[in-house]
Formats: sequence, structure tokens, C-alpha cells
Amino acid sequence: MQRLRFSSLLPQFRCRLFAAAQSKASAATSTTSGAAKLDSLKSLGLTDKLNFVNGERCDGNGAAFDNVYPASGHKTAAVRESTASDIDKAVLASKEAFTKWRETSPLERSLKLGEAARLIRARLQHLAAVEVLDTGKPIWEASADIEACADTLQMFSGLAHTLAGEHVHLPGGSFYYTRREPFGVCAGIGAWNYPFQMAVWKSAPALACGNGLVFKPAPLTPLGAVQLAEIYAEAGLPAGLFSVVQGGPDTGRALVRHPDIAKVSFTGGVAGGQAVAEAAGRLIRPVTLELGGKSPLIIFADADLDEAVRGAVLANYLCQGQVCSNAARVFVERRILDDFVDRLLRAVAGLRVGDPMLTETAIGASISSQHAERVLGYIGSAEAEGAKRLFGGDRVEVPGLETGHFLRPCVLANCSDGMRAVREEIFGAVLTLLEFDTEAEAVARANATEFGLSGGVFTRDLARAHRVIGELQAGSLYINTYNSYPPGVPFGGYKMSGFGRENCAESLRSYSQVKSVYVECAGIQLPTVP
Ligand code: NAD
Repeated sequence: MQRLRFSSLLPQFRCRLFAAAQSKASAATSTTSGAAKLDSLKSLGLTDKLNFVNGERCDGNGAAFDNVYPASGHKTAAVRESTASDIDKAVLASKEAFTKWRETSPLERSLKLGEAARLIRARLQHLAAVEVLDTGKPIWEASADIEACADTLQMFSGLAHTLAGEHVHLPGGSFYYTRREPFGVCAGIGAWNYPFQMAVWKSAPALACGNGLVFKPAPLTPLGAVQLAEIYAEAGLPAGLFSVVQGGPDTGRALVRHPDIAKVSFTGGVAGGQAVAEAAGRLIRPVTLELGGKSPLIIFADADLDEAVRGAVLANYLCQGQVCSNAARVFVERRILDDFVDRLLRAVAGLRVGDPMLTETAIGASISSQHAERVLGYIGSAEAEGAKRLFGGDRVEVPGLETGHFLRPCVLANCSDGMRAVREEIFGAVLTLLEFDTEAEAVARANATEFGLSGGVFTRDLARAHRVIGELQAGSLYINTYNSYPPGVPFGGYKMSGFGRENCAESLRSYSQVKSVYVECAGIQLPTVP
């Protein structure tokens, strides 16, 4: 989900040619031998010391866990987990840096975040290659994601100036004013599908407000966050302000419960979100939760069908289908179903599954073998319940990357709302086709889910488009497009998909708290006691 700036290129899933990125990246990802590959990765400085505390890379003091390149299964790094004492050091260093940072002017914060955005753009090819190594997504998508991250930072750099209080006159010359103050040190915890973006989406508003932030990436994608930490340090942010700790749920739990963490922003599954909200609730800490989804896309008979097909492709197959806002439940008005399906199958057949580092690749590798198995398990369960596999849903062997986990994008027909694969978030490239007859029916069925992250509608009827959008119970909606989030568009969920918004001015405010100050200028009048 770039949140796609290259939308003009998307219909064909063509990508800009990042030749340099590709050659650098392919040097790093040669599949010849594990040792040679690891050496080239080390020469790029990607895999050593993946914690970042007090302004420098370091290793955690906990157990080591292996990180692998999803496309080949080769080990890229032995990541040392952060212990409770490492987390303590990171939080205390951030707290120390925060005391200086909070006193800076909005202009200074703006300049430094703007410089970080410039550095991201200057290193776009390198960072995109790192994103591919982290995730196995195709290089064209990684490049678009990183560019969008620079745009987001640029936006928050500009918004730093807008964080202001208010001033209100009262009788007798008295008045009150409000201040928007940072919380202190915040914790950011990320999922594995957009690792660099999550580090940016959480840190940019937090830092723009004057906070510090300790970020924990998902253990499957540990490489990118430390690159961002180096960029912030180079852009002149105080040492320690932005820190990176590594590990899984235990590290996340320890971070959320640290006594000096003042706010938590979590992106992940519902179960993790519930655990984080409970822990933060006991400590009365504000939380932002960006959780999973099972979103609907409703295609009416009057829609431009080629556009609707492209929308359905964007809604299901970016990042190997591992996108929280994906609309895997594609509701199609019955009388256009056959025509829609013909066109959809032609489009999906054109999506090349392959080496993520090649620019012609549309679909890369699943994040892990367990995840690929899980996706295949859902496809199998749908077939057992009566669904018909019209396309894909099988493994693809990619030459030179035989040990990676590549799945052909899947289209399932004959689906019904009660099927497990239709109800639960698969987080894979599995589109389920559902037929409907009336608008009211489509809306009711679209809303019949515990989730409420996203949704979309394709129609030429403007009145109907807005009416349906008004009825859909979700936070991030689309008319005649899907999965595009330029900086500034609020992103977040309704219902079990979470609360709070990212990528917008509102998220900036959510990293600050309001202090109100009453100033008496007319003397205190005690009430007269009869
Ligand atoms: P996950 O919940 O397993 O893990 C997410 C992160 O939380 C990881 O860093 C993990 O180590 C940490 N974590 C897990 N349990 C924790 C706990 N009890 N306390 C503290 N930290 C904990 O999710 P995942 O498998 O990494 O990601 C997939 C899920 O993320 C999907 O459900 C997807 O929809 C969701 N997601 C949501 C958004 C969004 O913006 N709404 C974006 C991307 C992914």
C-alpha cells in the first residue's frame, strides 16, 4: 500500500526502472551461496547491529534470532533481541534527548524532519532494496513505498508549525490559553508488511510534536528501521531521540510496560492490539491501534468494468496480498458477473510472479513458509466449503529462488459469506467473488463483519457512490479506486480494526496533549455567603 504515487503505472503493474537499485540489490541477493550472499549484505552495512540506542547501532543483549530473505529463505542476519535492560537504556536515552527536543522551535523540528525526507529521497534505491530484503515485495512497490515515506515526512515537517494552542478572552481582561505539549517518550510497534513505512508513520508525527520514540519492528522485518534511525541522526536529531529495539511480542510487552513510556502506537493483528490496549489501559496510557481487516469492494453494474477490474487488482494483490486494507470480499452485481470475471482473470493472469529484485516482477514472495502455508490452508478450506478456484492459489517455482515461497495470485468463485476464507483475514493474495442483486443487500453483507478498516465502491452513479460510502462501517473508503493513500489522507479503522488515525494532521495532534491555563486579571470574587 504505498500508498501509491505511481498510480498511473499501476494498471499494468509496470514499474519505474530503478536500474541502480536493482544492480545493488541483486549484488546483495545473489542466490548462489548463503555465505557469499551474507558477505555482500554485510558490505552494504545492512545486517550488523540492528538495535539503535543513544545515537548508535548496537546489538541487543538477548538471544539471537535468524532473519531470512523471504524470496530465497537465506539467512540475512542473526538479530540480537533487546533485553529489558536494553529497552530501559533506549527509553532513558530518548527521555534525555526529549528534554532538549521539546524546547526546540517548530522551525528547527521542521528543518530537521525536512532534511530526513531529503536523505530518504537521496537513498531511495538503497532503502528500496532493503525493503525488498525485509519483505520479499517487488522492487517497484518497495520503491513507491519509500518515496511515499519521504513525502509523509515532508508533510509532517510542514505540519510542525501548525501545532498551536488557542487564546480566549474572558470578562474583565481575564483569558485562558491552551498549549499543545508532547507526551515524552512514545513507543511504536510495527507489523511486517510495510516495515519502513510504519517506522515513518509513527515517528514523523511523534517527532514533529517534540516527542521521542522507541520503535520495535516486527521480528520478520528487522532491517529497515535502523536505516531510518541513521537518517534521523544524520539529519541532526538529538542522539537517542529515536531508538530501535528488536524482538517479538515479549520485547513489545516490555516496551509497552516501561514506566517512562507515555503513549503507544501499535500496528498488527487484533490479538496483539487487544493485549497492548489492556497493558496500556492498566497504566492509563493513550493508544493508537491500527489492526486487521476484511474489507468489501462493491462493484455495481453501471461501473466502468475495466476500471473496476484494476481496482480489484489493487485491492487484492499488492505486497502479495499482505495488506491490511485489502478488499478480499469483492461483491459484484449478478448481471455483470460473467463479464467482470472474464476481464479479471485476464488481468490477474498478466501479473508476473517472480524475483522481487527484477523490475518486471509484479508479485514477490510470501513473508515466510508458515505464512504461505497459512494462505494455502485458507484456499483449501474454501474449496472444501464449495468455492471454485478460477485462477492461481498454487505455488510457483522461481528459477534461482527455489527455496523461496511464491504463490500465484488466487481468484475464488462460488463463495458465500459464511465461509471461513470469506470471514477471516487471510492476509494473502486471495480474492473471493460474491454476487449480489440489490444495493441494500450489498451494503448489509459488506457490513456484516467485526472489522471496519476499509472498503470501496465502483459505480458511475455519484449519488449512489456517496450513499453507499455513507453506509459502510469503515474508516478508509474509496470511490472508483482502491489502496491509494497520499500523505494527508487519514488512515485507520472502525470496529475491531482499531482507533486513531495515521498519515494526517489528526495523527500529529494525537501525539500531543492539551494543557489549559486560566489567567485571572480582574481579581478573585468569592461567592457572597448569605
Ligand atoms: P502481530 O500482531 O502478530 O504483530 C505486530 C507487532 O506487534 C510485531 O512487532 C509483534 O512482535 C508485536 N506484538 C505482538 N504481540 C504483542 C504484545 N502482546 N505486546 C506487544 N507487542 C506485540 O501482527 P503481524 O503478523 O506482524 O501483522 C499482521 C497483522 O497486522 C494483520 O492483521 C494486518 O491486518 C495488521 N496490519 C494492520 C495495519 C493497519 O494499518 N491497520 C497495517 C499493517 C498490518
